[in-house]
Amino acid sequence: MPEMPESQMGEAGSPEPHLSETSKMPDQIGNVGRRTTEELVADICASQGKTQLSLGPLEKVYVFWLAGMSCDGCTVSVSGATEPALEDLLTGSIPGVPLVVLHHTVLTLESGDHFTTSLEKAVAGKLDAPYVVAYEGSIADERLTAGCEPFSSSGSLPLWAGSEVRQRISTAEWVKRLAPGAAAVIAVGTCATWGGIPAAYGNVTGSMSVMDFLGKDYRSTTGLSVINIPGCAPVGDNFTDAVQAILLFLQGLGPLPEFDELGRPKWQFAETVHQRCVRAGYYEEGTFAKNYGDKECLVEIGCWGPVVQCNITEKGAVGHMGGCMNAGGPCIGCTMPGFPDKFSPFYKSPPGSTVSSNASRLLGSIIRPLRRISQRERNREIRWHDTVPSGWASEQGDVSLTHKILEFFYEKMQFMGSQRPGPHSAKEHFPAGYRSLPERLYGEDYQVLPEEREKKAEKRAE
Ligand code: SF4
Repeated sequence: MPEMPESQMGEAGSPEPHLSETSKMPDQIGNVGRRTTEELVADICASQGKTQLSLGPLEKVYVFWLAGMSCDGCTVSVSGATEPALEDLLTGSIPGVPLVVLHHTVLTLESGDHFTTSLEKAVAGKLDAPYVVAYEGSIADERLTAGCEPFSSSGSLPLWAGSEVRQRISTAEWVKRLAPGAAAVIAVGTCATWGGIPAAYGNVTGSMSVMDFLGKDYRSTTGLSVINIPGCAPVGDNFTDAVQAILLFLQGLGPLPEFDELGRPKWQFAETVHQRCVRAGYYEEGTFAKNYGDKECLVEIGCWGPVVQCNITEKGAVGHMGGCMNAGGPCIGCTMPGFPDKFSPFYKSPPGSTVSSNASRLLGSIIRPLRRISQRERNREIRWHDTVPSGWASEQGDVSLTHKILEFFYEKMQFMGSQRPGPHSAKEHFPAGYRSLPERLYGEDYQVLPEEREKKAEKRAE
């Protein structure tokens, strides 16, 4: 891991860290509830009448969410998660999952030195429960800053000193201090997992991923390497779902979740976007969108879905709603290492897609007409052996001889070696010929208006 300048090492960097007294600190700006996050959590539990919070050894787990070179998109995504929702984790509503005490730069109650104090406590090992570090955004190379003013920071130390003495602490430095004692380190979003947009060509800030920063040999106190939840922005559920799985494991109630060689949760990232895409049927039949807004497969207007590992088409953006291809956007590979450079220009079809899309086009030209024939045949009830009794059907919609021949062979093949539920043809179904109720009541006049039918009957009687 890259060395940080000594000048950035604040009070918490000393071997015997001094812990600040929050009671001596000034009032917090904006904390209208005048509660700490822990106090709020206790209130929530008490209001739910909970005495026994947890089914396992852990009653609660702290999560320290830090942000580096980030746009806050990951925070927006995660706060909108639904399966499980962040609120479910924060209120301990999921059976077996310990309560999450979240210290987040945007969402936490504390501000200023009160917020920094909880980070200090974690570094000093003074918390009463394990903690997890979640990092959003890429980690800038803070050695490149002028005058040691960090690219991104959280709080300033030492807390007991005046502003003229204090040093702002970069979030990179907090990761360096917190990672060794963390139960898990989770990189959230593509900037944190691979470097992302801040690490794209040019990269004046020397941005890198959490994995690059901590190094290959990093292991948390529970033996886990860095866990990566990529996406720009990531699917919020992927984070909350992974946290839930890890907490159940730490609780002894679940197996160690499976991760791939890049530390991605396997159950979320093993498959490609394409494998679950709502447009995959169009690809398979060889029909492709020409313009944005077309309903077909988007591969020829720049979709990288067939090679991109992501579950957005299954999960949607929020609560199974939206999400790139679902909403008409081609996949630009935002969950992948090398994004954005390796997937640009975004409007061009990926070179590798030419072979497979043309193969689909060729196969589709044979498959499509065959499917339409059998689709038309499947749209007919057995009793409609001559005519479709729908006012919407055109004359061409009536059952033709070709149709009947195809139906005959199709059914032969369909039920070859198995038993058909009922007779083979309408004739066998209705040996005396099928007649609808009006036909049975009024004979050949069943389609005639009632008044005319009466007139006809009178004529016949004369
Ligand atoms: Fe595959 Fe993309 Fe086409 Fe969907 S839009 S079927 S992901 S190539």
